[in-house]
Amino acid sequence: MYNKDLPLIDLHRHLDGNIRPKTIWQLAQDQQFKLPGQNYDEFLTHATIQDKADNLVEFLTKLDYGVSVLKTLDDVKRIAYENVEDLVSAQIDYAELRFSPFYMAMEHKLPVEAVVEAVIDGINQGRKQFAGKTQVNLIGILSRSYGQENCTTELDALLRFKDHLVGMDLAGDEKGFAGQLFEEHFKKIHKANLPVTVHAGEACGAESVWHAINSLGAQRIGHGVNSIQDPKLVEHLAQNDIAIESCLTSNYQTGTVANLAEHPITEFLNQGVQVCLNTDDPAVEQTELIDEFSIAKNIVGLTTVQIRQLQLNAIDACFLSDSEKQHLRTLKSNEKSQ
Ligand SMILES: [Zn+2]
Repeated sequence: MYNKDLPLIDLHRHLDGNIRPKTIWQLAQDQQFKLPGQNYDEFLTHATIQDKADNLVEFLTKLDYGVSVLKTLDDVKRIAYENVEDLVSAQIDYAELRFSPFYMAMEHKLPVEAVVEAVIDGINQGRKQFAGKTQVNLIGILSRSYGQENCTTELDALLRFKDHLVGMDLAGDEKGFAGQLFEEHFKKIHKANLPVTVHAGEACGAESVWHAINSLGAQRIGHGVNSIQDPKLVEHLAQNDIAIESCLTSNYQTGTVANLAEHPITEFLNQGVQVCLNTDDPAVEQTELIDEFSIAKNIVGLTTVQIRQLQLNAIDACFLSDSEKQHLRTLKSNEKSQ
């Protein structure tokens, strides 16, 4: 259903939205921390989306169980490592994992900088263990839902480790915390020379995407579903190679699209937008990238050629150098000839 001569790439995948429910359950038991449900199976119905949530904010509360059990820096390191292991199981060749250290630190008041360091440690351990099986880079998130001041704390912690990041993102409650609140943060990010992706056009309309591009300097847009409401914006995205990171199951589960068959990904492709396919929060959504490709084919109705285009777009949209992208383009054919 996807083209095996091209790599599987996930550019929109939250490390803190992909904490294994089994690990959450186990850590909670070790900590004698009470989770909802009498047993693991019951807990699973709380920690994952059952069909769909009412809206984005309700969807996001499902992520809270995972961070609620991050009591020590070792727990943080463990879940970062497991994220790399999950990439290998999901046959993903390259991923950019994004994380919000403020959100991960919040429940147990861990030092935010130390959380960034623990994530990097866990990722490095995974890179070493699974060398040659997957490649992974990190994107830092500012969690807009906690306001400007906390985002400043979060940004400062992330920028101390900027050499370990390939980009920065703005995520969380788009409706409650508009991009306008974070313009100063993104000025600092541009000064640090980090490329930018912004969650926009998910809970808000096309104006939020315009702002992300024009005022926050976004080179990629997370979701961007509602860009479709503004033909000028779609044209601007296509002409300027601003990528849309589409996440089909997530968009259905957050209520951003009512019906996957009508997802604008088809129109984005038709209009020449650099759209690619991603997971978002696989553990919460109970999906994987391969599942998203079968949904793209079987439910959205994309053709083999269109699916190939999604895979090529993912390579172009990576926050990597041209030579690293070229390496990804030939990765699968080189693997075969070895
Ligand atoms: Zn996301």
